[in-house]
Amino acid sequence: MNDYEKDNGGVVNSQQLLHDISALSHLFRESASIETLLNKAVEMVARRTQSAVCSIYLYNPDKQELTLHATEGLNPESVGRVHLKLGQGLTGLALQEMRPVCEADAGRHPGYKFFPGIYEERYNAFLAVPIARGMSKMGVLVLQRDSRQCYEESDITALETVASQLANIIENAQFLLGRHEPVAEKAKSVPAGLKFIKGKVAAEGFTYAPAMVLDKRRSLSLLLHQDSGKAHTLEDFRIAVTHTERQLEKLQEQVEHKLSDAASLIFAAHLMILKDQDFTGKIARRIEGGVGAPTAIAAVASDYMRSFLASQNAYMQEKANDIEDLAVRLVDNLLSRGEETSVHRDHVIITRGLFPSDLLKLSSEGASAIVLVGGGVTSHIAILARSLAMPMVMVDAFELLNVPDGTPVLVDAEIGNVFVDPDDHVLERFMVQQRARLTLDDQKRLMKPVTQTADGARVHLMANINLLSDLKVARELSCDGIGLYRTEFPFIVRTTFPTEAEQYVIYRKLVDSMPGKPVTFRTLDAGGDKILSYYHDIKEQNPAMGMRSIRFSLQNRAIFVEHIRAILRAGAGADLHIMFPMISSIDEFHEAREVVRESLGQLEKQGIEHHAKPKLGMMVELPAVVDLIEDFAREVDFFSIGTNDLIQFMLAVDRTNESVSDLYLPHHPSVLRVLNRIARVALENGRGLSICGDMAHQTQYIPFLLGIGVKAFSVDPIYLLRTQQAIAATSLTDAEALARAMLAKSRIRDLEALLKNQTRAD
Ligand code: PEP
Ligand code: MG
Repeated sequence: MNDYEKDNGGVVNSQQLLHDISALSHLFRESASIETLLNKAVEMVARRTQSAVCSIYLYNPDKQELTLHATEGLNPESVGRVHLKLGQGLTGLALQEMRPVCEADAGRHPGYKFFPGIYEERYNAFLAVPIARGMSKMGVLVLQRDSRQCYEESDITALETVASQLANIIENAQFLLGRHEPVAEKAKSVPAGLKFIKGKVAAEGFTYAPAMVLDKRRSLSLLLHQDSGKAHTLEDFRIAVTHTERQLEKLQEQVEHKLSDAASLIFAAHLMILKDQDFTGKIARRIEGGVGAPTAIAAVASDYMRSFLASQNAYMQEKANDIEDLAVRLVDNLLSRGEETSVHRDHVIITRGLFPSDLLKLSSEGASAIVLVGGGVTSHIAILARSLAMPMVMVDAFELLNVPDGTPVLVDAEIGNVFVDPDDHVLERFMVQQRARLTLDDQKRLMKPVTQTADGARVHLMANINLLSDLKVARELSCDGIGLYRTEFPFIVRTTFPTEAEQYVIYRKLVDSMPGKPVTFRTLDAGGDKILSYYHDIKEQNPAMGMRSIRFSLQNRAIFVEHIRAILRAGAGADLHIMFPMISSIDEFHEAREVVRESLGQLEKQGIEHHAKPKLGMMVELPAVVDLIEDFAREVDFFSIGTNDLIQFMLAVDRTNESVSDLYLPHHPSVLRVLNRIARVALENGRGLSICGDMAHQTQYIPFLLGIGVKAFSVDPIYLLRTQQAIAATSLTDAEALARAMLAKSRIRDLEALLKNQTRAD
């Protein structure tokens, strides 16, 4: 006779339950077998809740499936055999909706799923509560008993408390049980339901190619399973090392050729590691001791990675990626015995973490597109991807990491869609679209030499340049100059600060490419989400508001002076504009201007050729400057509005955080009114005014911007034609009327309606 039968009218003693659960966690620490532990848990919960049945289902997020792992009261043979998809049955429903499901007569519920042979049909009263850690789903705790005593509110509360206590145990159990699963068996087929994923565009483009998953957490373990059974000699390993070295040198050359400003020695770390006797020596010793070569490589690489990953320093963590990359390369070369392999070429790379140097490497190796899982993309990764013409979509679907390598994937980074193994119908639709896409030649043909509104007002259309490779499109489309050169890119992708001489060479190429046209250098905007991995080794709690941008430059004056000197020297004879990012006060602007004056003095004294009178301006990116804008207008030659940061800081919405992206609203009434105020003050004071944030190329906002008097737009080169066409389609008179109407609205929904109407009118 069990406790239920002994006492089927009692009340749940939740205090007692809690007490036992804490005893259970104690037991967990000493328990050798997870199965025993889970069994003890269900037995105890069943007893305390006077239930005939208590079961624990564990969730496998890769398969999106629940499996019965322990039960008191059901047929013990059903353990490990009962599987439920997320949402399937009442148990699956509880987890899918992350809420308790309580039924007096479970069998009558339309979602009830009957499993023959587990003997649950006798128990109609049903209560399931999800087991979760934060938002992550871990499993379900289920109670059942006969219908004479259905569960009540107090039972639900008690069981929820138990479930939350169990979460910690389950998390560990899942981890350990997961280790028992053979790694190589994972990811053999496309996870069910994974055909279409809606993501967010980071860099536009379109690709259809086989997938390759780069997942740090699994690739080394996969390597360990790659031993082909063939015995590799020490000589084989040495040949693989030499071959890898040659491959890397060639790649390095290609990158330098393609991206002279950014390349630096991006494969330097790999080459250094290969030359490290300790690294190769350790592998060789293992091979000599009889360990298979791929296993020896993976084992030594893991040791190195672990020590790098243990560091708090982002630069060191980046090195762990290099080690991993190198280990994969070495094993590939070992197994293919020197055939030319570029594993990433013409593949859609699915990955969860990406450094700028990774992106450069993937681009130089010919990867076709990137699907970044789990967000965490920093704005410079997205910007860099655009400059590299690498389509990139960010998605939240971690299951994508289980897509088998080689599965065809269609990445539509025009709107952020990812199709896994798309059917012919989807493919055909996209092929038609692809054929309609404009080539650079088409764009050249369509681009007008002069940008103006429908009623003939002249507008200056300039380019945002991140990498020198962006210049090609900018030049071919003959824009009106460079409205924003993000100087931080050569800093971000390198492994040390570039010297004044190196900077000069890059900047001079930029200036030479735009003869007679304005060139605007924004001084170093490092920090925040644009980290210099070799410098920002102190983890900041809140880097967006930390030691970044102009603050970083003013704090590192020697670096700033070299930077300004390089700009002034490169700008000799050009229409040179210099602007400071993230200015928050007049004092800060003065301090930055002082560095320019000091550098000018030095160059003058040294007799070095330079630009003696550059125009000095500021980015408007912080709400703090809005109320000082009239005062700033007396100090600066020009304003450039950085809407990306201005919106982020005005609305307190992180521009890189996928989960709040719906709140990032350029058409928030306060943003619109601030833009209007800045434009009015700049125009009244005869100061230069341009807009260089993403809002400048978002065509729905262009009429408003024209309407408040913005006559200079700076956009990524790929958006030049689109922006020109949107301007040409707008009459200034209409734009002014629209801007007046928008500025009169105080509700977001009214503004959205106005924007919608305007689109319809187009
Ligand atoms: C901006 O903030 O709008 C801007 C142009 O700068 P970045 O995107 O480089 O921060
Ligand atoms: Mg900015």
